[in-house]
Parts: sequence; structure tokens; C-alpha cells
Amino acid sequence: MTFTPSEKEEERIKLRELHFMHCPKCGIKLIEMDYKQIKIDRCSECLGIWLDANELEQARLKKIFSILKK
Ligand SMILES: [Zn+2]
Repeated sequence: MTFTPSEKEEERIKLRELHFMHCPKCGIKLIEMDYKQIKIDRCSECLGIWLDANELEQARLKKIFSILKK
């Protein structure tokens, strides 16, 4: 199967939409949460947590995880 460049781009967009904000583990939609200015994406099914964090936020994240574990 061959794609023209535009079809390839369409496919990429489709895939991105399909996977965007879904848990990589179980595919369930992620719930976006805000915790002290840090955006957390949490899966309602397996309770997996996905986030972007810089190194300065690592200490804060430890706190977050201790709260979420409860
Ligand atoms: Zn999940």
C-alpha cells in the first residue's frame, strides 16, 4: 500500500487523535487533573499517571504520588 504525502499526513493525524489522551497501558481515556500547577493525566481504569515534568518538579511529584496512592 502506498500513500501520497497528504494521505500519510492524514493517517498520522488520525492515529494521533486515536491515541491522544488515552492510557498507553489499557487504552482508557485519561482524566486531566491539575495539582499545584502540574498537569497530570490519570487513567481511571488502571490508575496510571502520565505527566510531563522538568527536573525541578521532581520533588513536588513525590508529594503528588504520596497523595494519589491514598
Ligand atoms: Zn490505564
